[in-house]
Amino acid sequence: MSPTGDFEGLAALVTGGASGIGAAIAATLRDRGARVAVLDRDPTGAPSGTLPVKTDVTSDEGVRTAVEAVVAEFGALHTVVGNAGIGAIGTVEDNSDDEWHRLLDVNVLGLVRTARAALPHLRAAAARRPGAVSITHTCSIAATAGLPQRAAYSASKGAVLSLTLAMAADHVREGIRVNCVNPGTVDTPWVGRLLGQAADPAAERAALEARQPTGRLVSAEEVAAAVAYLASPAAAAVTGTALAVDGGMQGLRLRPA
Ligand code: NAD
Repeated sequence: MSPTGDFEGLAALVTGGASGIGAAIAATLRDRGARVAVLDRDPTGAPSGTLPVKTDVTSDEGVRTAVEAVVAEFGALHTVVGNAGIGAIGTVEDNSDDEWHRLLDVNVLGLVRTARAALPHLRAAAARRPGAVSITHTCSIAATAGLPQRAAYSASKGAVLSLTLAMAADHVREGIRVNCVNPGTVDTPWVGRLLGQAADPAAERAALEARQPTGRLVSAEEVAAAVAYLASPAAAAVTGTALAVDGGMQGLRLRPA
């Protein structure tokens, strides 16, 4: 089947789909034929042609209501992308308990709430479209890389990786595949905000690029292409996998200069 139409007849939802990586994922799935809903606490940036649903993934009831609204609109749900996430900078001495709770609430429990609300619908869809039903999480190389100044964020993404593997095991016999992507440093508004805090944003950006084996940041579209592969019927035999999209940072075992 052509990659441009391989999501024809499939319904997808993307959390955090109104900016950066999530917006690129939503647009890619749309371009490949899916009907796509964007669940975001601020959905104003949802790509055209997608269904924006204002949802905060820290609210269990809010997520349930949003998922039911999407299924009512689309008639089914085949593809879930849990992507909404926030960052935090610091060592264990820097972040308060409140900051830790907030990070885990969004980055980990946000995925749990989304899956919990979606699974009954995914089970129903899997019976009709074997191989085409999946959950994909946006994790990070922070899950395993040992990045400095990212204690809480790394711990949250480590939990996302473990959650992905456990969910893959729990739902494999139901025909629901569960995978994640591990992006490196991706050129998104998030990274733009971080650079904006630096004394010399241009120099900081050049330093970030120089740390990549490829010499450049990853694009949101490159991450989206990997997510689309994992979610597509072509990946019917792929579950419990973490796919690095990081310009070679982890696979080449390079350390920042
Ligand atoms: P971004 O800030 O550009 O976009 C994040 C989106 O998530 C925004 O639209 C925001 O409104 C939404 N969001 C945040 N909290 C939410 C909540 N509680 N409920 C609903 N929506 C919420 O960030 P991005 O760079 O595109 O990051 C997206 C994901 O990719 C995150 O999970 C992040 O951890 C991961 N990631 C990013 C990078 C990177 O370098 N940018 C690298 C690895 C992993």
